[in-house]
Amino acid sequence: MKLSRFGKRFSAHTGTVQLMEDLGDALTGNGDVLMLGGGNPAHIPEVQSFFRERLQRIVESPREFAHMAGNYDPPRGDPRFLAALAGLFRERFGWNVSPSNIVLTAGSQAGFFLILNMLAGECEDGTRRRILLPLAPEYIGYSDLGLTDPMFSTRRPAIETFPDRTFKYHVDFDALAPDDDTAAICVSRPTNPTGNVLTDIEMEKLERLAQSMEVPLIVDNAYGMPFPNILFTPATLRWNENIILCMSLSKIGLPGARTGIVIASEEITAAIATMNGKLSLAMGSFGPAIALDLIQSGEILSLSENVIRPYYRRKAERAMALCHERLAGLDYHIHKAEGAIFLWLWFRDLPITNDELYERLKRRGVLVLSGSHFFPGLDEDWRHRYECIRVSIAMDDSVVERGIGIIAEEVRHAYGAG
Ligand code: PLP
Repeated sequence: MKLSRFGKRFSAHTGTVQLMEDLGDALTGNGDVLMLGGGNPAHIPEVQSFFRERLQRIVESPREFAHMAGNYDPPRGDPRFLAALAGLFRERFGWNVSPSNIVLTAGSQAGFFLILNMLAGECEDGTRRRILLPLAPEYIGYSDLGLTDPMFSTRRPAIETFPDRTFKYHVDFDALAPDDDTAAICVSRPTNPTGNVLTDIEMEKLERLAQSMEVPLIVDNAYGMPFPNILFTPATLRWNENIILCMSLSKIGLPGARTGIVIASEEITAAIATMNGKLSLAMGSFGPAIALDLIQSGEILSLSENVIRPYYRRKAERAMALCHERLAGLDYHIHKAEGAIFLWLWFRDLPITNDELYERLKRRGVLVLSGSHFFPGLDEDWRHRYECIRVSIAMDDSVVERGIGIIAEEVRHAYGAG
């Protein structure tokens, strides 16, 4: 079959696709695999029962069911849902947002495809522009999205270590001399894969940098406030017309609804709505229908604050304690667990690469993600990239416990320490 450049590029079997397949096989195959690899949110019983009840009420109402399943929504998304979101952000944060500052996407991953390619790549004046990722490790999902290469200009972080074997990445502003082909600056906060939360000071500096370069700052808030609010450290969320804030219903427990939310200037949201119309005609109505009540009543805030956040905080603390216990005596560090649903482990001077460790763990029935994939656009060879792995903490406690036990055994073995 003769494929176009687009066809070749987007059907190519990349590392990311392989990982998703491994994870998919693990979820559908025999139940013995310890799945610490995926980004699936936990099935928190209280949250699930809330959504089940809501769906039940929709199914029992012919009018609501017809609205959810029998109509095309506009390409911007369900107007009631957009109005409820605008109300929430005005009241909760005092932002000057109206429904025309909001647009839905078919999951935030699809939103990133549109946003990144809309800003970066080949321009009409013949120039090529790139997205600046000021701090890698960064979300693996950005890597394969570009319609052209190179899509990213990526910087290594500064690393701060602490005596309790934790560490934290910071944006290395000294190394952040802006390129003149920058189309936008992009960060995930909390960061997938590391659980890092960029400080308010770092965010303000990035905001100022973006403004001085006259480019937008894209903030991927998939785990952030006000929902799902998987944040374990104080942080402020800011928005203005130069920020493209991307959110999602996935991590509150609705990844199947494929609902992404973009809050941005009217110019940006209108462009995305038009692209939605061309690509998909309409946005899915399922996510907005299930979550509408929650947003209108503001209950999404208490659910996030009182159920989702404490759930993951406990999991993170427990997994962290287990890692310290099992890895004792080895040269390991754990990134400060400040948010999201992962631990990021760094094994300094590990004699094998993290890709090899991934294979060894897979053979032992434990799936993690090798950290090597989380440096989209970083071409330089940097040993640290091959010394880290990402471990999901969202699974059942017993799975996380057994998985961490096996990880520790394999790492000890790789260091030649047992
Ligand atoms: N951004 C980050 C940081 C993520 O971790 C994910 C999913 O894991 C996404 C975006 C995409 O989420 P979705 O497409 O489910 O909304």
